[in-house]
Amino acid sequence: MIPTVTTFKAVLVTQPDGKFAVDIQDMDRSMLAEGEVLVRVAYSSLNYKDGLAVTGKPGVIRNFPMVPGIDFAGVVEESSSDEFRAGDSVVITGCGTGETIWGGYSQYARLDAKCIVPLPQGMSLQQAMAIGTAGFTAMQSVMALEHHGLKPDSTGEVLVTGAAGGVGSTAVAILAKLGYKVAASTGRPEYHDYLRDLGATSILDRAELQAPSKRPLDSERWAAAIDSVGGDTLAAVLRSVFAHGSVAACGLAGGAALNTTVFPFILRGVNLLGIDSPKVDKPGRLAIWSRLATDMPLDLLNEMTQVVPLKRVFDVGELIIAGKIRGRTVIDVNAFE
Ligand code: NDP
Repeated sequence: MIPTVTTFKAVLVTQPDGKFAVDIQDMDRSMLAEGEVLVRVAYSSLNYKDGLAVTGKPGVIRNFPMVPGIDFAGVVEESSSDEFRAGDSVVITGCGTGETIWGGYSQYARLDAKCIVPLPQGMSLQQAMAIGTAGFTAMQSVMALEHHGLKPDSTGEVLVTGAAGGVGSTAVAILAKLGYKVAASTGRPEYHDYLRDLGATSILDRAELQAPSKRPLDSERWAAAIDSVGGDTLAAVLRSVFAHGSVAACGLAGGAALNTTVFPFILRGVNLLGIDSPKVDKPGRLAIWSRLATDMPLDLLNEMTQVVPLKRVFDVGELIIAGKIRGRTVIDVNAFE
């Protein structure tokens, strides 16, 4: 087969002499790893993990050199898999991409079919990356809560923490569209109106959930919760969710340690649901994207999203680690100015 691509641009993270280095580089097709499907990438996105990767923080990149970008959407250029053909539009969210497999901050990527999902009908490549890993994780969290009995007519509000961030914004919009009453917790008062526009029925200051407490339980306040903050916030949420309610724990933007007691579990039957988007199998990925196609309000998705050229990954990467990004950021990997 005649190669359709020989050179392209990508962000490359290296470790010369053990020191972190990152830049946009001219790459040769021969540098791409083995894989069944070659994808011409249109868009990637900015997730918390990508912020860590492009700013040289440990814990995300496992092999060097690495092209970061844990998710991407594009068009199949070549495929040796029966599942995909040249011209198919596809989407990839965290499957080791940007960690152990070269990721989406690149004009081309090659990987195996098991990581790849067809672009849902009615969704553009840009919208797929406006959703990205953050929106995928929000939908996975909603589905986990539903699986444990949450229904739109359940009494009380569903709490979303880190609400102005990527997982938080998409979770608020999805829950509101499904008919839930949504309480949004944020540390940024300037985004209260934004969160109400996404469908939040009430807003609380995140400081309320961060105050240290020795109490084993608080008053029952939330029907369920999606927590992207972790740390003391998650401990506070566990103390105040309804008896037999569930908490989907997906993040650590506020801390990884969890200082709690067993009382929420043994006195109230609270369920703590772990959310691990990279480990979702192919049928699970298809099910989550199918729900996203119907339950993500695309008008609100456009409202919560900015699109930036590839060269901006370095500054928006710093901003997401500082908790200063609102909603979602799409990376146009073919724009350089
Ligand atoms: P964002 O930075 O977009 O959102 C995180 C939000 O958390 C911020 O917007 C802010 O919300 C809040 N926050 C930030 N710092 C603090 C702090 N020190 N204390 C309390 N709240 C804080 O990141 P993402 O939405 O992309 O990711 C959120 C988390 O979810 C990350 O930890 C990420 O690693 C994790 N994640 C996990 C996945 C999984 O599969 N389990 C998949 C995707 C993400 P506000 O300003 O509203 O207070």
